[in-house]
Amino acid sequence: MDISSLFRENIKKIKPYSSAREEFEGIAEVYLDANENPFPSDFNRYPDPLQKELKQKLAQIKKVDPSQIFLSNGSDEAIDWLVRAFCEPKQDAIVHCPPTFGMYKVVAAINEVQLLEVPMSETFSLNVEEILKQKAKILFLCNPNNPTGTEFKKEDLLYIIQNFKGIVVIDEAYGDFANYSLVEEIKNHNNLVVLQTFSKAWGMAGLRLGMTFGNKEVISVLTTLKMPYNVGVYTQKTALEKLNSTQKQTEVEKILEQRIWLEQKLTQNQSVEYIYPSAANFLLVKFNDAKKIYDLLKDSSVLVRNQSYQLHCQNTLRITVGTPKENQRLIDALTQIQ
Ligand SMILES: *Cc1c(COP(=O)(O)O)cnc(C)c1O
Repeated sequence: MDISSLFRENIKKIKPYSSAREEFEGIAEVYLDANENPFPSDFNRYPDPLQKELKQKLAQIKKVDPSQIFLSNGSDEAIDWLVRAFCEPKQDAIVHCPPTFGMYKVVAAINEVQLLEVPMSETFSLNVEEILKQKAKILFLCNPNNPTGTEFKKEDLLYIIQNFKGIVVIDEAYGDFANYSLVEEIKNHNNLVVLQTFSKAWGMAGLRLGMTFGNKEVISVLTTLKMPYNVGVYTQKTALEKLNSTQKQTEVEKILEQRIWLEQKLTQNQSVEYIYPSAANFLLVKFNDAKKIYDLLKDSSVLVRNQSYQLHCQNTLRITVGTPKENQRLIDALTQIQ
C-alpha cells in the first residue's frame, strides 16, 4: 500500500522543530545549549527527545527496529496523533466497532473527523465484510477489546489488515494478558500500526508512557509531529528498569490466576447472569440489575465501571482484577448484597 498518499497534505510538508538536544548527538562536557538551570539535580536536564536507549531495549524485546517505534505520553495521545496525521478535518473518516474503547470517538470529534461505526454482534464478534466496505483513512480495533475482554481471531485480524484500504490500528493496551500480539506483523503489512502501553500490565499508569509500532514512514511522521521533549527523564528511566526486570511477568501471572479465581466466585453469585470470556485483566459481567449492584458496591467503597450504556452491554459492569485482598473485598460485598 502507498502509505504516503494517505497522509494529510499539510502534514507531508511539515519540517520538524529541531530541539537543542536533537541537533547535537554524543556527549559534551559543558551544556550551554538549552537554557537549563546548570545546578545539578535529578531533573535539571532535558530528557533525550528521541528516547534512544529505551527504544533500543524495546526494539530488542519486541523484535522490531528502533525506527519502527514511537513513544508518547500514554497511548491515548498516539490515537490523537494518528488521526491528526492522516485525517483531513470535515473530510476524512475513521472506523471503529462498538462496543469498544471510548477514545476513538472522542478523538474523532475533537478533530472533526467522521466516525463510521460497524457494530459487533451480540456475542462480540467482528462483522468483517462490513468493516471492509468502509471508506476511511483509519480503522481502530482494540484487541483484546475494552470493555468486553474479547480476543478476536488472529486470522480475522490479519485478513482485515490485508484487505482494508487504509491504516489499521490494533490497540493492544491489554496485549500483555492476551494469547498473541501482532507487533511482529508490522514487517509484513505497512498499513498496520500497533498500540501498546505501560499503563496496564507494566504498572506505570501514573507515569504515562505509550508505545506505537508501525512502518518507518508512519513512525517518522509521528516523530515529526510530537512535542520535542514529550517523554520525561523519570519515565524513560523507570521504563528501562521495568524492561530489565521480571516484575511484569510475575504480576501478569498473578493477575491471570486471580481472574480465574474471580470468575469462579462470581459464577456462584446469584446476582450474576453471565461472565464474558476475557483475555484481559478485567471481566465484563452481566448482572440482573447492574445499576443496583454498582450503587451497592460503591456504598461498600468498591468502585467498578458500569458499561450498561454501551451497545449490547445492558446490565453489565466491568470489573478490574485486583490483588487477592481486593478481589475478596468485592466478593464479600457482593455476597452481602444477595
Ligand atoms: C487504557 C487504554 C489505553 C490508554 O492507555 P494510556 O497509555 O494510559 O493512555 C488505550 N487503549 C485502551 C483500549 C485502553 O483500555
